Amino acid sequence: MNPDNDPDLEYQIPVVVHILMDDSCSLGAVDDAQVHAQIRVLNEDFRALPDSNGALGEDSRISFVLADRDPEGRPSSGITRTCNTAAHTGSSVVRNELLWAPHFYLNLFVFDIEDAAGFVYFFPSQDNGGRVGSSSDIVAVDFKNFGVFDRGEGLDFGRTATHEIGHYLGLDHTFYPQFDCPAGEFPDCYTQGDLLCDTPPESHPFRGGCDGDIEASCGQTTRPFDNYMNYSDDICMTRFTPEQINRMRCSLRRYRPNLYRVIDNACDETPFTLTLTTGAPRCGGESFAVSAVIDDDVVVDAVAWSPPDLFRAPRFAETLAALQRTTEISVQVRDMRGCTVQASATITVVPAPDAAMYAAWRDRGVFLAFDADADQSTTVLDYTAIVGTCL
Ligand SMILES: [Zn+2]
Repeated sequence: MNPDNDPDLEYQIPVVVHILMDDSCSLGAVDDAQVHAQIRVLNEDFRALPDSNGALGEDSRISFVLADRDPEGRPSSGITRTCNTAAHTGSSVVRNELLWAPHFYLNLFVFDIEDAAGFVYFFPSQDNGGRVGSSSDIVAVDFKNFGVFDRGEGLDFGRTATHEIGHYLGLDHTFYPQFDCPAGEFPDCYTQGDLLCDTPPESHPFRGGCDGDIEASCGQTTRPFDNYMNYSDDICMTRFTPEQINRMRCSLRRYRPNLYRVIDNACDETPFTLTLTTGAPRCGGESFAVSAVIDDDVVVDAVAWSPPDLFRAPRFAETLAALQRTTEISVQVRDMRGCTVQASATITVVPAPDAAMYAAWRDRGVFLAFDADADQSTTVLDYTAIVGTCL
């Protein structure tokens, strides 16, 4: 079995949350605590964590983490904030500028969505394969429904994001198509409705409470009011079904192979050795050699470099052309058991303008300069020794 298909492996998805406020940075503001609460709810729901609102469900072994690096490899909180009324009210122009490489990050945008709690533009599928990784490959959640509020309203427990990410990973509504009763019996339930057999058919969304007052639909005795892909109140939703989970994991592997990293909780802390080497400090615009080395006996399944934009197809030795500034790079290698090891290194680049500036100071006999990065005075002569080739 391809280790990726092992149902026990956890797939972890890095998320960047883009908060879009109005021009005054007040309307639509969401603080860090709410973002963290939202990520916590996603993990409670997708992992059916004990003692959480999602505990009654099934563990999908899909988890979420705020990205700790931006697409250029710089440390990040995984949260961006923008004050722009047009963006806050739905214009896609700023969204497209803010987008982080969608093959590698789940971009979750939070703004004022006029007529919905949230949306995705498409489900990953054969027909939509080309849209994965495009600027429309986002998840949108209205700022009023993002996070956990417990206001006594319907959509206040963070389940709008759970629902939309269900779509993002290939799930349809339990009531698809509306106003129709698709087959509920095998095998037709796999070709009609939401294409799954363990979600009972229903002709319309279930809305409102979860007090057991269940109206029948499509001749069924039960309604999947507790399913995240319905329209019930947040507090009533507790589960994805096993077939929904299979589809989401399948969609991830098939359509979003670069989005997730595999976590095998059975792997040792250091399943194998990985060493990353880079060239000596260079000047801006020159190329660099980078290479990764692993133990001889490791059978490699996948190699992923970061920042992804810098690297071509996965390989162990790479030449990076024209780096303009110091860059943190990392490589993650997965072996055939599904165990991963990561190594990182800093490529030191002397920016070309700095080099010219220091050269000018040197020529005028100025030997001390203030190095803002190191927050101290630095001797230009030492500096010129380090970057001599740039001067
Ligand atoms: Zn939906």
